[in-house]
Amino acid sequence: MALIVKKFGGTSVGTVDRIEAVADKLQQSRKNGDDVVVVVSAMSGETNRLVDLAHAIQEQPTPRELDVLLSTGEQVTIALLSMALEKRGCPARSYTGGQVHILTDTVHNKARIKDIDAARVRADLDAGRVVVIAGFQGVDEHGNITTLGRGGSDTTAVAMAAALKADECQIFTDVDGVYTTDPRVEPHARRLNKITFEEMLEMASLGSKVLQIRAVEFAGKYNVPLRVLSSFEEGEGTLITFEDEGMEEAKISGIAFNRDEAKLTILGVPDQPGIAYKILGPIAAANIEVDMIVQNIAEDTATDFTFTVHRNDYKRALAVLQATANETKAREVKGDNAIVKISLVGVGMRSHAGIASTMFEALAKEGINIRMISTSEIKISVVVDEKYLELGVRTLHEAFELAEKKPF
Ligand code: ADP
Ligand code: ASP
Ligand code: MG
Repeated sequence: MALIVKKFGGTSVGTVDRIEAVADKLQQSRKNGDDVVVVVSAMSGETNRLVDLAHAIQEQPTPRELDVLLSTGEQVTIALLSMALEKRGCPARSYTGGQVHILTDTVHNKARIKDIDAARVRADLDAGRVVVIAGFQGVDEHGNITTLGRGGSDTTAVAMAAALKADECQIFTDVDGVYTTDPRVEPHARRLNKITFEEMLEMASLGSKVLQIRAVEFAGKYNVPLRVLSSFEEGEGTLITFEDEGMEEAKISGIAFNRDEAKLTILGVPDQPGIAYKILGPIAAANIEVDMIVQNIAEDTATDFTFTVHRNDYKRALAVLQATANETKAREVKGDNAIVKISLVGVGMRSHAGIASTMFEALAKEGINIRMISTSEIKISVVVDEKYLELGVRTLHEAFELAEKKPF
């Protein structure tokens, strides 16, 4: 007998029929003798609908109230799924995040889980019930409802698995595992049987939304066996694991991309100590996160400085930068919010030279201009024009032979 935490995402619980299908699956696990804790997302489209409602009233919704609103999506699903289980004669109980003591910090809209008191869940399991928990939400120490950021139900599931010392945390979704790249962009993408935590973390942070980055972080830190599987088909899915010998052969395990990028450049700023701070200080003060940074070598006494931000922050960042430009007497400010970032990820990269040149050559052959480059031990990222996203991803997928090997 095993204790399994199973998480079902929005599409997997998107209709009443799908909720019934999830209930069938859970009943089967119970029949096999497993203890089951289920974490569910809001029905597909629901969280977006709620976000739109909030924006129809406030341009920048009050973070606390936005959390009260968004947390309702998951509350609908837990009740419906528990009803479907009860209908099958399978005892079940639904709980909101707060009811099972998912304690978070007070950062509304992207709260972090600090603690879980799993006693109530354990008691229900001991009584033979399936426990159905609302993903994506918790409460802070004052009892305010918080949410964990988009995709946060993954993190609820992993944190619950860690708290219960579950045998496995299974993330059921609308693809049958983690692929070499998003199969919606590259139909030849290949499912990976295994991927290391390190690589999965990098893929998630570079834009692969199949798992929320905090879920991967958490699973790595607390040693939670984590698997991504299809809600609709049988299969082994993808196991997220620690590095092992057989895995070192692949130089590149995947390609991630992020469409939410924008870039800003300040041209002709005086090149003197403290200038980077002068430019980025006000950006940080405005709570805008900066990703890539490039400063050109100054030819005379002036230099150019470019950085990228999330596309949602583009307009605000532009205004802040313009103010800095006026103050420092810089020549000009330029911006572009039609750019994307494409990244190659692989632990094998650290021991193989030439990956960057293969990457740049492949992109050049397709006439794709690289606007920025950044590297770390296990990734290389390039910024290109948005219109080249699909072509860029497919070109690199082919250049690094990531597709399924055909027998003929
Ligand atoms: P859920 O609602 O179940 O949480 P998500 O939409 O958050 O599902 O995540 C699943 C989606 O992630 C897939 O439909 C797929 O388009 C996307 N995705 C992005 N990169 C990858 C990848 N490398 N492997 C698999 N899926 C990926
Ligand atoms: N419903 C939330 C979202 O859409 C959380 C989740 O599905 O993981 O982001
Ligand atoms: Mg998700």
